[in-house]
Amino acid sequence: MKLLVDLLVAWALWFLVRRLFRSQPPLRSTFRSTPVRRRVRAAGDMVACTHCGLYVPRAESVSGGQGTAFCCLEHKEAAARH
Ligand SMILES: [Zn+2]
Repeated sequence: MKLLVDLLVAWALWFLVRRLFRSQPPLRSTFRSTPVRRRVRAAGDMVACTHCGLYVPRAESVSGGQGTAFCCLEHKEAAARH
């Protein structure tokens, strides 16, 4: 009788482990997206391009002076032309 209980416990554990492994792919994809979110947070605050409105990390933006920021050098030059 004890052997039967042991078998039932072993089966229950195996079933649980199998369920855990089955639910792992969606879990992994959320873990994969976490570093991206962390990178965005680590990049600091986002600034909107004065020319096109695109949000870029302040570290990657092109400063136009007087508190303006641009997503690329082309937009800084385009805004300066106006
Ligand atoms: Zn832009």
